[in-house]
Order: sequence, then structure tokens, then C-alpha cells
Amino acid sequence: MSLGRIATLGAGPQGFVATRVSAQIQGGLPETRILGCPQQGALRDRLRSAIKGAGFKYPSCRVTLDLEAPDCPWEEEHLLPAALAILIATGQARASILEPYRWLGRLRLDGGIEQAQPPWSQLTKLGDDTVVGNDGRLSIQHLCDLTPKTRQTSTPQGPGLCLPAGAISEMAQWVLAGAHSLFAYGEPGAGKSRTLLEMHKHWPDSTEANCHRWARWHRRRKALPRLRRSLPARSTPAQLTHWCEVYQGHAITIDDLPLHNSGLKDRLIQRMDEDSSTAILASANPCACGWLGSDRKACRCDQSQRQRWHRLLPNPLLDRFDVLWRFEYTDQPPEPCSLELVTQAQKIQRERQGCLNGQLPAQQLSHIPGMSPALTRLLRLQASALGLSGRAQLSVAKVARTLADLRQTDTIREDDLMQSLALRASPLEL
Ligand SMILES: [Zn+2]
Repeated sequence: MSLGRIATLGAGPQGFVATRVSAQIQGGLPETRILGCPQQGALRDRLRSAIKGAGFKYPSCRVTLDLEAPDCPWEEEHLLPAALAILIATGQARASILEPYRWLGRLRLDGGIEQAQPPWSQLTKLGDDTVVGNDGRLSIQHLCDLTPKTRQTSTPQGPGLCLPAGAISEMAQWVLAGAHSLFAYGEPGAGKSRTLLEMHKHWPDSTEANCHRWARWHRRRKALPRLRRSLPARSTPAQLTHWCEVYQGHAITIDDLPLHNSGLKDRLIQRMDEDSSTAILASANPCACGWLGSDRKACRCDQSQRQRWHRLLPNPLLDRFDVLWRFEYTDQPPEPCSLELVTQAQKIQRERQGCLNGQLPAQQLSHIPGMSPALTRLLRLQASALGLSGRAQLSVAKVARTLADLRQTDTIREDDLMQSLALRASPLEL
């Protein structure tokens, strides 16, 4: 049995009283009980969704929640302290950070924290030790300045990029070197999300023109100790707008792209057209069950399910990614690899054109440095055979430029172009 306790306030008959929410975790069948709460179903569901939505694990055993002041009823404002108490009891949050304060706040299903409603919202005047909701931008994870335990153990710390050696590590270096947009797909457990997060950690700074935006981002980051690195599944366009704003001139990581609503996908397309300095790192399963094209398990989807899945990945969106990469399952453990070559390639690009290849606002193939007329002809020929759009051809040329920069040469070779073409394996062709 383990116990987590968080200070909060209760509204009793004599006004507000200081109290605590305690969470007791015991073995047994999964069940959550909120003592002394008549309508506990709604609170319970919201609590579970919020904890999961913020990227933590909800305990799959018996959870008992208690508001320790006997005369005070449970209210939605107690969901935040309840969630924090559960995270402490399950060892997912550090008690030392959270215990000095009293907590009150409503929770959104994605783990975001909302402003408390009256009369609770007037409590801000009580003093610095009471934290009462916020403007809706903070989530449980920011508060705790912590990462879920599962993530900590899955990503060993290393000086450079820490990924399984071989194809995945190579691809990550190509993408990082030119700050290209990446669409990663493949079976569950192939390490897509882990790789994207690891790449995000090493994402290059933007051009100098973006420095002031960076300063703003850093200031904001100070206020929010640890921003989530990826958008939760089923995000709203408003959330994306917020993320874009925070990650201006940077990278946005989106897990499970097909599951997001079409409004968000439209916004994403618009975003990629408007601002070439923001790269998108997105992941997806290749089909609804996830096992299409896998050696480990057979796909259970029928034709209509596959078609439905493909409709969730609109072509105009896929077209805007520079690299489309299929993840194969590997049991290789992650190992650190040096980013020296990547840093050198980035330096070459900045000196030549003031930005990285993925951020080049080029409209024509001839605008890409090193694209000779012969190469352009070759690319056009290949593109018409593969049915690549004009935009995709530009992406291929930019990635080829990056491959040449990694070799530290001015001229793009035919091999670079062919390798770059191979980096556009669309999931719709599986
Ligand atoms: Zn399937």
C-alpha cells in the first residue's frame, strides 16, 4: 500500500478550511473510490482521463481518495490535488516539489488545468502558497517538473543522440542535419515516438532571424518548467496554434497523426505552407490495427478499414513532409552516437544560405544550391515515374542537398538524389 497527500482547501459550513486530499493505492481489482462523494462517476472518469492525457499511468489497482475535512464536499476544484496525490502515491511525481503548496484546480480531459470557478477563484488573494488553477495553458506535467517514469527509463542519458544503431540512427541524423519535416510510420513498439522525442531533444536552433522568438520561448519555458514535447492525441486546432506559438522556428512533435481531427490537419497544412522554419515530426500506425506490413503479427484490417485509415492521412498533408520513413521493429538497444557530423553540416548550410535546408523558402528546383540542370532533369524523370508532386520534388532536392552537406561537398551527386527519393516511402503504398 502507498499513500500520497496533497494540501488543498475545502468549503465547509464555516467557510474555507485548510485540508488535504489523500490517495491510497492498494493491490486488488482496478477500482477507484472517492469517499464521501455522491456523484463520483463523473469525477472519477475525468481524473483518469486527465492523468492519462498528461502522459502518466493511471494505477490499475484499487485507488481510494479522501478529502480529509469531514464537512467539506468534493468539488471539481479538488481534481487537481487528487491527481497530484495519485502521482505521488504511484511514484510518478516528486512529493518535495508539490508538498509546500496548497492546490486547487479543475482538470481538462487532456491533463490541462483550468481556472477555478467562483468562489474558489477569489482565493488567489490568500497568499503565495495556494495555487488556484491558471489560464488553461498549464498541464499537470508542467506543474510537477517531472517526466513520467516510463519515459525516464526508456531513454538512457547520453551525450549525443541516443537511438538504436543502424538505419534509425542514420535517418535521424539526416533529418536533424537539415531540420527536415519527418513522417514516421510503422508497427506498434517499433520506437517511433521514442525516436521523435529523442530527435526533438537535439533539434537545431533556428536561424538568427528567429532568435528573438527563441528568447521569448525561453522566457516562457522558465515559467513552465517542462513543456510537453508532443501534442496529445486528439488535439484541437487551438492547442496546435498554442504549440506553434511556443515552438516558433522549432519543431512540433505530433503522435498518432491520423487520430487527430481534420481541423487540426488543415491547420497543420496551412502552418507548413506559411512558415518553413517550423518542422513537424509526426508518427502514425500504418493501419487501424497497426500491423500492416509487419513480420511479427498479421494485419487484421479488411480492405474497407484500410481505406478508411488512408482517408485519415490526407495526401496533401503527407506531401508536405520532407521524409516519409517506415520504422522496422528492432531489438537493438539505444546507444549514444556523436552529432559532430550533423553540427558541421548545419554550419555549412548556415554559412551558405543563412538557414538549414529544410527551412529554405525555395519555390523552384533551381533555387536549391547545387542542383545542376542534369540533376533537375533526372529528378523530373523519376518524379513522373513515381507520381511525385512539384512540392515533393522540392523536398527530395532539399534532402539530397543535406546528404551532400553531410559529406561536406558542394555538388549534389546522383546517389544523393536517389537516396533522397528512397526516403519518401508513402504509407499509402503498403
Ligand atoms: Zn491492420
